[in-house]
Parts: sequence; C-alpha cells; structure tokens
Amino acid sequence: MTSTRTPLIAGNWKMHKTVAESESLVRDIINGDRRKDVDVLVAPPFTSLHAVARLVDTSDVGLAAQNMHWEKQGAYTGEVSPLMLADLGVEFVILGHSERRHIFGEKDEGINRKVISALAHGLKPILCVGETLEERRAEKIYGVLEAQLLGGLSGLQPDETGRVTIAYEPVWAIGTGHTATPDQAQAVHRLIRRQLVDLTLCNKDLANRVRILYGGSVKASNATEIMAQPDVDGVLVGGASLSAGEFLGIINF
Ligand code: PEP
Repeated sequence: MTSTRTPLIAGNWKMHKTVAESESLVRDIINGDRRKDVDVLVAPPFTSLHAVARLVDTSDVGLAAQNMHWEKQGAYTGEVSPLMLADLGVEFVILGHSERRHIFGEKDEGINRKVISALAHGLKPILCVGETLEERRAEKIYGVLEAQLLGGLSGLQPDETGRVTIAYEPVWAIGTGHTATPDQAQAVHRLIRRQLVDLTLCNKDLANRVRILYGGSVKASNATEIMAQPDVDGVLVGGASLSAGEFLGIINF
C-alpha cells in the first residue's frame, strides 16, 4: 500500500544558535535548493523563536518549539506556555525528548499533561519515545514503548491521537553517531503503529495516518536508506540540522 503520509523532516537545534545565527541558518534553509514534496520544520531555542517565526512566516518551512509547560500562564519561573508559543505562530512542539526525560527527569505523567495542553491550544505535539541500550539488550523495547505511548497519550480522544506525531528516538542513537539500521528502525516503527491499535489509543485507519519519525544520528549520508522504510515517515534531526548544507542534504534524501 502506498503511504499517504507526507514525509516530515524536522530539525531540532537544541541549545545552539544565537538569534543572528538562527536567522542566518533558517534563511539558508528557506532559500536552499530543496525538494518541495516533503514538510520541513525547524525547532530553534526559545530565544530565537520570535526572529525565526518572522522569517518562516512567508515560507513553506514550519516552526516548532522544543518544549513547553502545560499551564497557559502562572507562577512557573523559567517556563514557556502553550499560549505564548501559539502567539508566536509556532505550529509543532517537541515533547518528551530523551534529553528532557533523562537529564531533566521528565516523567510520562507530565509529558501527558503537555500533550493534552498542546492539543488544546492548537499546537501539534511531536511525542518522543525510545529505549535505552540496556533496555534494548534486555529485550524490553515492547514494554518501554507501551509505557511511553500509554503514558504520553492517555486521556486523548482517538482523533486527537491522530493529530500527534510520534518520534522514535532510541536513546543510544541520539548524538552518538550510532544510527539504528534501517531494519531496526522499520521494525520498531511498525511495532509502534501496531501498538497504537493494540493499546486502543486509536483505530487502524488513524494509526495508518499517524506520522512516525525516526531520530538518532541521521545525516545526509544515511537519510535515504532510513527514509526508504515503509513505516518511517520522516526524521527528527539534531546535530546535522545545525548546518544548512547537511540539513538540505537530508531534505533531498
Ligand atoms: C535529537 O536530538 O532528536 C536527535 C536525533 O539528535 P541527533 O540527530 O544529533 O542524534
């Protein structure tokens, strides 16, 4: 069956780039020589969101935030709300990234609150899931993903689940240079699509429409073989998204 899911290539800039550097990078992506049959998204740091929002506004490049709080306002020093992101024209928000889970101790319950709040504010969540190397070696992938999917998506109506993008990012592949093989990525992506149905998070039709991105050391040189997998609908790119040339190479997989 031919997929109806438009590929999504998303760049997560993490804690990199000043405002001027962000503007320069996004200009190079907007004006770069790139195919137009894929969706492209950049996730700059909060400090650059406003400047980048103004530049992508008249382009076909989308804008994402890297995180958010679930409340729309309040006494939460250092946090950024969904209302503030929507106000800037942000369309997507990355939630539950492994760095948030493992460095900052985020748990599924809080991630779930964020997913619900993002949807309520018209933002499209990109929910990150993935196992550690120890969990993979102990053959715990099914259980880890089950807990992260059930935890992150609980309380959503099936049509809301259909508006979530899932990013499968094996922790051992993020920023390490160790990409999952295309077969490993495909096997887990197919598993996630099946779990969405088996865990009664949505029906088969919706599960077939959910975009599932792969993330973990994607580069221009390995994007083509990963993107060739039938259940891989795009990539979430960290390090390689910081260079326009490399990111354009991935877009043109
Ligand atoms: C990420 O941070 O989501 C990521 C996949 O990073 P990298 O591409 O650098 O592994």
